[in-house]
Amino acid sequence: MNIGGNELKITKINVAPKSVKLKEPITISLGTIDHSMSAIVEIETDEGIIGYGEGSPGILITGETLKGTAECIQLFEKQLIGVDPLDTEKIHSLMNSVAALAPSAKTAVDIACYDLFGKKANLPVYKLLGGFDSSVRTDMTIGIDDPERMAEKAKLAVSQGFDTLKIKVGTGFTADIARIKTIRDAVGSNINLRLDANQAWKPKEAVNTINHLSQYGIELVEQPVAYYDIEGLTFVTNNVSTPIMSDESCFNSKDALRLIKARAVDFVNIKLMKCGGIHEALKINSICEAAGVECMIGCMVEETNIGVTAAAHLAAATKNITRADLDATFGLNEVAIPGGVGLEATSLISLSDKAGLGLSK
Ligand code: MG
Repeated sequence: MNIGGNELKITKINVAPKSVKLKEPITISLGTIDHSMSAIVEIETDEGIIGYGEGSPGILITGETLKGTAECIQLFEKQLIGVDPLDTEKIHSLMNSVAALAPSAKTAVDIACYDLFGKKANLPVYKLLGGFDSSVRTDMTIGIDDPERMAEKAKLAVSQGFDTLKIKVGTGFTADIARIKTIRDAVGSNINLRLDANQAWKPKEAVNTINHLSQYGIELVEQPVAYYDIEGLTFVTNNVSTPIMSDESCFNSKDALRLIKARAVDFVNIKLMKCGGIHEALKINSICEAAGVECMIGCMVEETNIGVTAAAHLAAATKNITRADLDATFGLNEVAIPGGVGLEATSLISLSDKAGLGLSK
């Protein structure tokens, strides 16, 4: 794309795999995560402008590893030297010619290209993507633990200003009921509770559990059944009054279309690391918007502030992304690159009006 009279060209793609210990481990029904995982990308251009991106493989969700993600990005580099990073459709076509799937690797390059797009256009990314708003409200996630410990964390988050909590569940009916009852009693009735079972339940078990939990005032339940069980997801959605959201069942726009056709969900959770970046996330959001299905934007627990900041720009830019679960950086002791979403837990993420993603060394 020609902005300001000349095309940008990619001259080099640097990849640095990085893994750092989280402030504390977080447990979900699929397992425990205790480290960030990030292939940090810097795309150099012939004008000296550098774009920053991140591929953060959440192995429990996408099956990718950090080493494989970094290797895949190095393979992309061979195809992308000399290409204009603003030509995002072409960039993705070239990456797809190198590797099937590999969403985290593609996301790393995609984010860096959008950062370059903003820097070249001298606009923040949220303006490029639609400019609906310049801030996002995020929830805070509470990992699986004993009910009292979870209630303590819930109260701490409320004291930090969070009015929406995302509670991880899925270790058995009795334990899940005890968790939600204890947390609701601790935080009172004004706090919004959304749940995430991370595929833990069989369809009938999900219906039974969700119908029992509804007495505690539940905003929505994320991914109650196995990611591949779309009929099961439809069964759950049709048999509970609590809204149901897909996460692991929707990686890309094809998945979104399949879920919409099956009327399987009320909401869709988009994550850049599942879909391959902003380019594909916009397609998912458009399909959902046309079907009257609002989206949430989420992040991997393993992400750093680069991925989370890119997701926040996308969420701010688009009207149909009405919810955000962008709390990964609050569990870190350091940022990958200064700028963007910070380390201090805050429900309101306000984006800077600096060009690109607002990150700089
Ligand atoms: Mg989830």
